[in-house]
Amino acid sequence: MDVVVILIVVVLLVGLVAGGVAVTRGRRREVELEPPPSPGRSAAGTPTLDERPVTEPEAVPEPGDVAVPEAEAPTAPPEPEAAPEVVEPGPLVRPSFRERLGKARSALGEYVGAVLGRDRIDEETWDELEEALISADVGIDETTALLDELRERADELKIAEPELLLEQLKVLLKDRLAVADRSLRLDDGTTNVWLFVGVNGVGKTTTIGKVARRLRAEDRSVLMAAGDTFRAAAAEQLTMWADRTGAELVRGSEGGDPSSVIFDGVQRAAARGIDIVLADTAGRLHTKTNLMEELRKVRRVASREPGNVTEVLLVLDATTGQNGLVQAKQFTDAVDVTGVVLTKLDGSAKGGIVLAIQSQLGMPVKLVGLGETADDLVDFDPDEFVDALFA
Ligand code: GDP
Repeated sequence: MDVVVILIVVVLLVGLVAGGVAVTRGRRREVELEPPPSPGRSAAGTPTLDERPVTEPEAVPEPGDVAVPEAEAPTAPPEPEAAPEVVEPGPLVRPSFRERLGKARSALGEYVGAVLGRDRIDEETWDELEEALISADVGIDETTALLDELRERADELKIAEPELLLEQLKVLLKDRLAVADRSLRLDDGTTNVWLFVGVNGVGKTTTIGKVARRLRAEDRSVLMAAGDTFRAAAAEQLTMWADRTGAELVRGSEGGDPSSVIFDGVQRAAARGIDIVLADTAGRLHTKTNLMEELRKVRRVASREPGNVTEVLLVLDATTGQNGLVQAKQFTDAVDVTGVVLTKLDGSAKGGIVLAIQSQLGMPVKLVGLGETADDLVDFDPDEFVDALFA
């Protein structure tokens, strides 16, 4: 009997050991059968940058062109470490002026508080208003014109209380800002090109990303052309934005001809029936060619059939205030600017720059940057803006 029990135990043990070996083998086999990751794809199956539709365009010669000296041996842009996340375009979350204009509001707040703190309107009230507007970077001429008009209105309406005077100032500011056409032109059935111009660091690349995000949310197809070939980081940044917004991208080699990148972008967009090309441009050149000359050429090349340049947007950094306007004039002289994108208004105490841009450059602010994320770009709304400043 004991022998039989022992035999049964032995048989069971052998069976268990054999089963264990088989399972382990099976597992190993599974591991071996797993396919190796295909080149150009991350483990999660996300396309990496190797797969991006990147084009290296040929230079576009133009009759009478200024020769662009060859930059030092073009170097391949560094590979980013990880594949960026691809974001499906979803509904936009619009930030409010009121929420984001904290700096500008608190700068103005001191003066507003002082004006309201008096029980009547006197010369100090006018001095305070003048200081408030000048420190907000409205500009001296525009401030003088505004206050002259406000004095007239105050007389006409027999305004005696500081609170009502401030209300009238708001009305005047809104009236002045209301005159401009701020719509962004997009012609259906054509290859629209929006050129973004401005000096380095103002936020061109970021704005292109944000604009692409908006257009994608409206179901428009977008191609980005990395025309700032003089800054490797610009093309890298744009690549990231293209990935995140689901836009196509055309980029060239570092130091290459910017016009040819944009030309190639337009050709590709037309061939694929893409609605719009968002074209980045250089803010500084590393060659002897004049930047404004280069921009004129970019503008001409982008307009060649089938390109239809419907916006040339000058990107200005609100934190530079009046200083930025001096540079801005050069751009408006060189290319037909159709509107301004005012970035970093969230970090600026100089909200009045909006008025200065309109009066000094004769140009409407069409879009405003209120932060660094994809959704932080809004249409410029004068009423909301003025109310937020004085809130
Ligand atoms: P570019 O050289 O003109 O292409 O400028 P970039 O797009 O590289 O932007 C320069 C810096 O400004 C980056 O750090 C951006 O995140 C930042 N930036 C751009 N727009 C805004 C904005 O509206 N608000 C804030 N706070 N930062 C911004």
